[in-house]
Amino acid sequence: MKVADDNEISATLRRLPSIDTLLREEKIRDLVQSAGAEQSAAIAREQVDSLRTDIQGSSLFATQTSEELLDEAVRRIARAWRAKQNMGTRRVINATGVILHTNLGRASLSEDARNALRDTASGYCTVEYDLETGDRGKRGVCAEELLTDLTGAESAIVVNNCAAAAFLVLSVFGSGGEAVISRGELVEIGGDFRVPDVLEQSGTKLREVGATNRTKLADYEKGIGPDTRLLLRVHPSNYRIIGFTSSVSNTALVDLAHAHGLIMYEDAGSGAFPEISDLLDDEPVISRSIQNGVDLVSFSGDKLLGGPQCGLIVGRRNLIEKLRNDPLYRALRVGKLIYAALEATLRSYARGTAITDIPVLRMLAATYDTLEERCRSFVQRYPGSGDFVFDIVHGHSVVGGGSAPDTHPSSPLIAISHPAISAEGLTAMLRNSKPPVIARIEKDRVHLDLRTVSVEDECELLAALTHFEGQNPS
Ligand SMILES: *Cc1c(COP(=O)(O)O)cnc(C)c1O
Repeated sequence: MKVADDNEISATLRRLPSIDTLLREEKIRDLVQSAGAEQSAAIAREQVDSLRTDIQGSSLFATQTSEELLDEAVRRIARAWRAKQNMGTRRVINATGVILHTNLGRASLSEDARNALRDTASGYCTVEYDLETGDRGKRGVCAEELLTDLTGAESAIVVNNCAAAAFLVLSVFGSGGEAVISRGELVEIGGDFRVPDVLEQSGTKLREVGATNRTKLADYEKGIGPDTRLLLRVHPSNYRIIGFTSSVSNTALVDLAHAHGLIMYEDAGSGAFPEISDLLDDEPVISRSIQNGVDLVSFSGDKLLGGPQCGLIVGRRNLIEKLRNDPLYRALRVGKLIYAALEATLRSYARGTAITDIPVLRMLAATYDTLEERCRSFVQRYPGSGDFVFDIVHGHSVVGGGSAPDTHPSSPLIAISHPAISAEGLTAMLRNSKPPVIARIEKDRVHLDLRTVSVEDECELLAALTHFEGQNPS
């Protein structure tokens, strides 16, 4: 290619379309309509600027005609607008098989929780209003009562997430002092979300005791000094079925804490209600910890519980009241929508229908045979012309996106291939469907895991595949 000289470049720059010309282009009329005049002008200016830079920097564009430059600008504007629209939070179909996919919003909410959200969001609500008396009500009482009923704790409080729960507990009870924690537990949670850093922000010094792989009661005892305020137990966040066997029991830690006038606090992380522990062994059961005398237990709302993002703290009434009266609680409290979704989720447990109501539990409980039947019927219902090749293969799902997940329920997977489209191309196309579908690639093939796809979503998933086969006349 011949190198463009300065005169040629200047001439090309003069051929760049004006913003007005661009905005009158037929091809981007819809875009201008949905983006509005000001926003589309801003996008057009940005894209013409980038084209100008490219003309100055590369001979590739330097000799283009006015028409070619107009086309190129229009193409860039359309692409920029699509990228802008793809930003932000919206529903996707999770066909990855990762049940609590943090990037995809962790727990999928129950039908009741979705309805409660929609209802509460559609106007005013009773977040601090008592319908019986017509007076001001206490924020959160309903969720708190459900939590105490379900866990056997004296009292409960809800904050923004489990990290906030741990931060609040340590700020109120540990600040200026020390919390004794097993070195192994601190290592386990040291992954990418740095809970230890959050804990230390509270002004509590974490005093690590024992060895990474084993901590004995005597190690805790030796770690207790004049500044100790709490004994802290933190569960590893990888939702493993097997492997987490703590060498010191909760009851022994509780006795030790109380003998020294300390608070025993357990950050259960995910935390389980009995329904969940039937499905996953070794998840700490909140009611059992309370029964064993643990003073405060915190856990996440959007992990195994299957509710919205929040942090739940249950335990002794006097301690929970101290948390509630601390100014920090005001900064960490949750809003009306979270209460609405959380209450609906907890009601399913109270009613005894959690296992059928809560998607996380349904996904965990789904058997291989049921899933295989769904896969078979899905492939059979596919109405496409036959360019896609479907295979049902043996694979695994993942419970949670923890740092070292070792829970892998066996699942049948639908492997998809296409003679003319690469696996990466296929996943990109799926991401661009409406709603976007997120799939995984294994051994150069795209795999769909129906364990994390609801039966209701199967139609849309089928439509996504059918739609772009129609677009690919290969
Ligand atoms: C996940 C987890 C947290 C953080 O919970 P968020 O609700 O994401 O803030 C804290 N501690 C443990 C042990 C966890 O597993």
